Amino acid sequence: MTDWIAAAAALTPQTGLFIDGAFRPAADGASFETIAPRDGSVIAEISSGGEADVDAAVRAAARAFESGVWSRADRRERQRVLVRLADLMLENLDELALLEAHDSGHPISDARNVDVPTAARVFRWYAEALDKVSDEVAPTPENALALVTREPLGVVGAVVPWNYPLIISSWKLAPALATGNSVVLKPAELTSLSALKLAELAAEAGLPDGVLNVVPGLGRVAGQALGRHPLVDKVTFTGSPAVGRGFLTYAGESNGKQVALELGGKSPQLVLADAPDLAAAASAIAWGIFYNAGQTCHGGSRLIVDERVHDALLEEVVKVGRSLVQGDPLDAATQLGTIASATQLDRVLGYVDVARVEGATVIGGRRVRPAGLEDGFYVEPTIFDGVDNAGRIGQEEIFGPALAVTTVRGAEEGVRVANDSAYGLAASVWTGSVTTAHNVAKRLRAGTVWINTFDVADVITPFGGFKQSGSGRDRSLHAFDAYTALKTTWIDLGDGSL
Ligand code: NAP
Ligand code: MG
Repeated sequence: MTDWIAAAAALTPQTGLFIDGAFRPAADGASFETIAPRDGSVIAEISSGGEADVDAAVRAAARAFESGVWSRADRRERQRVLVRLADLMLENLDELALLEAHDSGHPISDARNVDVPTAARVFRWYAEALDKVSDEVAPTPENALALVTREPLGVVGAVVPWNYPLIISSWKLAPALATGNSVVLKPAELTSLSALKLAELAAEAGLPDGVLNVVPGLGRVAGQALGRHPLVDKVTFTGSPAVGRGFLTYAGESNGKQVALELGGKSPQLVLADAPDLAAAASAIAWGIFYNAGQTCHGGSRLIVDERVHDALLEEVVKVGRSLVQGDPLDAATQLGTIASATQLDRVLGYVDVARVEGATVIGGRRVRPAGLEDGFYVEPTIFDGVDNAGRIGQEEIFGPALAVTTVRGAEEGVRVANDSAYGLAASVWTGSVTTAHNVAKRLRAGTVWINTFDVADVITPFGGFKQSGSGRDRSLHAFDAYTALKTTWIDLGDGSL
């Protein structure tokens, strides 16, 4: 068994900007601290990319793209490098997992069992898919042949949040790189360490210089510079709705680059009176909101439950919540880690006050200060019962381990309340009737609908939102379309004579 605390103390993470195949400080020497949410201590000083650094990274990416070293490389070569990267991620499983857990507050067991293996699988999956998908031949008249091929866009800017740094980065980088693009990644300020390690491993795997650049920095500086850069062909963004809309403005005011947005959610879990197994539902509902301390964009943050099963279900959900082992993310037994930052901790606790003002019954809702980790960012599993879906607790994304419970009667009212949201990322319905399940699933306005389960997913299916949850889709083979442009090549075949 590893002593993760000792291993964390011994870490010597990369802290520079990774541009054109090498680590370097910011042009103006700026840096920022990255904090360990387990105890609020400083892990490292990270170089803070400015406009000049983003420009250097984008130009390196554009040069690499133009050179063809990656963009026109044989797809089997791209495949080989990205499969090697997936292998290297697993060979470096402990270090990558530790960087992720220490920097973000994810429990180390989740980082080892979920974050790193999932991200590695995403790279492997897109690499392996490269020689299994064909382009098209159009149904032309007999005197012509028209090929419809997918070509890389050029330079892709990826801007990601702090809640799943490695997984969300892999959703964007893997299909973008597999299809031959060059990428500039701006990780979240709170969690840059795993992205810098990923850059190092990508270079070791044989990715040519300039093809992947990682520029940590402040969102309004480095993120904005990427969004406004005229040589960036596409920005793929995951984060908050406000910043996402900012990228649309940046694009409109610069070169009209493509923008794909994956924004937040307020995902409803609708439990109907005929739900077959309330204990199973309760377990999935509790994990669906408390996993990663509720910092999951599609987290099932609203429980919409038929009044006939409310009491029995809630009792079970509370039981599961109380059974979770909360504590030090660097303890392998921990199931519930921390909130990512002091700011986010205050935000979550602020919503506990809002819930009380709005008349909800609050179960939990307190900050936890584990012995020796008193300055860490821990909140106990929290349930707000009796929530009016139209209020702030029903409508606003809390992004913490807090479940809002609203009672309804019947599927019709349940669907109406579930859809009464600006968001539409995910939803679930729990029912014993296959007909009701399908009819409710069709009516739920969400990019993913789960039936009698929650939060099962894989790279094989698309992920993204309806309504204000965004316009882009990560994952699945459809992501190849997101990072390529269609080209028509029309060939004249004359009158058919030989
Ligand atoms: P955020 O503030 O929108 O930040 C996301 C990224 O954008 C970060 O890299 C951030 O940099 C950068 N950024 C911030 N302000 C910027 C600006 N003015 N211009 C350009 N870039 C800027 O979101 P967050 O607080 O990290 O993440 C939580 C939110 O993201 C939640 O609302 C959550 O629901 C959503 N989310 C959605 C999904 C999804 O798949 N739909 C997944 C995860 C999270 P800094 O780190 O320096 O601020
Ligand atoms: Mg951190």
